Amino acid sequence: MSRRDEIKSALAKVREEIADRATLIVVTKTFPLSDVEILYELGERNFGENRDEEGALKSGGIGEDAIWHFQGGIQSKKIRSIVSWADFIHSLEDLSHARKIDDAARSLGKRQRVLIQINLDSGNDKRSGIDSKDFDAFADEILKFRDLDLLGVMGVAPLGVDPTPSFALLQEKSMNLRQMKPDAVVISAGMSGDYPIALQFGATHIRIGSSILGSR
Ligand SMILES: *Cc1c(COP(=O)(O)O)cnc(C)c1O
Repeated sequence: MSRRDEIKSALAKVREEIADRATLIVVTKTFPLSDVEILYELGERNFGENRDEEGALKSGGIGEDAIWHFQGGIQSKKIRSIVSWADFIHSLEDLSHARKIDDAARSLGKRQRVLIQINLDSGNDKRSGIDSKDFDAFADEILKFRDLDLLGVMGVAPLGVDPTPSFALLQEKSMNLRQMKPDAVVISAGMSGDYPIALQFGATHIRIGSSILGSR
């Protein structure tokens, strides 16, 4: 089977399951630009990357109408570059990063769309994301930046346990955010292993890599 046929059939299965319930983001991290080109040709427009270098390279190699999602850990010194190519940043969790993203967006003449990442692995504070109990106060701060457009929340459910309580918590925080900013409706949740459950809890954006592109 050609790489194209392989991707096409895996993509069809995922698309069928998601249907029109959410936006599919294909996570292309570690996979080559040639895979992104195949996906683009098959009609995909939303792509997710975790590293600045890879995202900058691939986003420059594909049609302008592609939408790029940065979902990895943010490093201060990479912020200006990330803002230059990412349409959405899913992994905001730090006020000093917010300030730098806001500055970079202003100097690049854009408003940066961002999601706040919430740590869904309560009890493990080494995981990315802000603690859910700090969410409302943090969101309130983020809303003050002129060139950040806060549009929702993102979370990664802990591996190896039932993701139900995690996705329920994320949905609850999303409801709080909608009270503060009615258009901030994005819930970025669900990966290859758990996306059917994320859909049950209102996920609007599903981030899938290995189910479509194979193991990394
Ligand atoms: C890698 C990654 C994904 C995709 O994971 P798969 O299990 O390959 O579907 C989704 N979200 C984040 C934040 C990731 O780092």
